[in-house]
Amino acid sequence: MDQTSYIVFDLEWNQSAEGKQGEVRELPFEILEIGAVKLNSSLEPVGEFSCVIRPVVYTRLHYKVLEITHVGMEELKKRGVPFAEAVRSFLAWCEDTGEETENRPLSPPVFCTWGNMDLTELQRNMAFHGVENPFPYPLLYYDVQKLYNRLYLDNSKNRLPLEKAVEQLGLPPAEQFHRALDDARCTAEVMKKMNFRAVEEYLSLDYYRLPESSEEEIYLVFPDYSKFVSRKFPTREDAIADKTVTDLLCYRCRRMLRKKIRWFTGNQRYYYCLGECPEHGYVKGKIRMKHTPGGEVYAIKTIKLTDDAGAELIRRRKEETMDRRRVKNRLKNTGNTGRQSGL
Ligand SMILES: [Zn+2]
Repeated sequence: MDQTSYIVFDLEWNQSAEGKQGEVRELPFEILEIGAVKLNSSLEPVGEFSCVIRPVVYTRLHYKVLEITHVGMEELKKRGVPFAEAVRSFLAWCEDTGEETENRPLSPPVFCTWGNMDLTELQRNMAFHGVENPFPYPLLYYDVQKLYNRLYLDNSKNRLPLEKAVEQLGLPPAEQFHRALDDARCTAEVMKKMNFRAVEEYLSLDYYRLPESSEEEIYLVFPDYSKFVSRKFPTREDAIADKTVTDLLCYRCRRMLRKKIRWFTGNQRYYYCLGECPEHGYVKGKIRMKHTPGGEVYAIKTIKLTDDAGAELIRRRKEETMDRRRVKNRLKNTGNTGRQSGL
């Protein structure tokens, strides 16, 4: 029997009302409210948590926050508790998973959020306030918004607001959207109503803590793709020169594949390649180069099976990239020749 329990949570946060000028770099978003619902393994709610926080960094509400949130600065100052206190009671509440039988200890709950920002911002706020990070590494969670997209929106990259999903599923709207507890309740309702079991293998990875060494690099296998997250490198060139970054492994059979098209890029942000597994056919690789807040670079590589059409698409993309480069070089060379002939 699966005994997993879930913590569906939502945060409201504020940012500098004066824009970048008044921003504290270590804390672009200051958490104002935590709301959460605990679900048992059948996705039934078994408890709730709610807490407002007294802000100390940004004491005026940003206009965007004013527009959507229903919590005022007065309420926060009067009822809010210090962040460290709030998050400690939240974490204690999360850990309290109810009855534990002797021969079957309960596994730690899995966090679920609408979108991919809440866990990251929670940890950033914890670090800012000197609260120890108790989460496992790597930290896997459910991005319910992404699961919803996978189920109902053809896995599109467009992120649907929670209100829309609630409406599409015919659920009653929240009492107040953009109050943390109400949004957490709605997210939990969406989870229960949608076909969660069909997508429960698709855990998301939180990127707040990145691999510091090759031992900490992350490799995850999903039903239809694999994901690799590299350690940090000083530059993109260092990253793309690393063998583990550029290896093409069939995620089905773990065979190391020879590349039919080697890694290429048009914009230095996305790299593509194509290989072929003798057992599983065409395999395509994609690397996304990401910057850390400290200006370093890490690579996220995804590997997927593809078909003839998919392979053809990569061939064509490579051609286009080469064409663009040829045009660029020709322009550059013409320029040089011009200058040389002027000598
Ligand atoms: Zn294979």
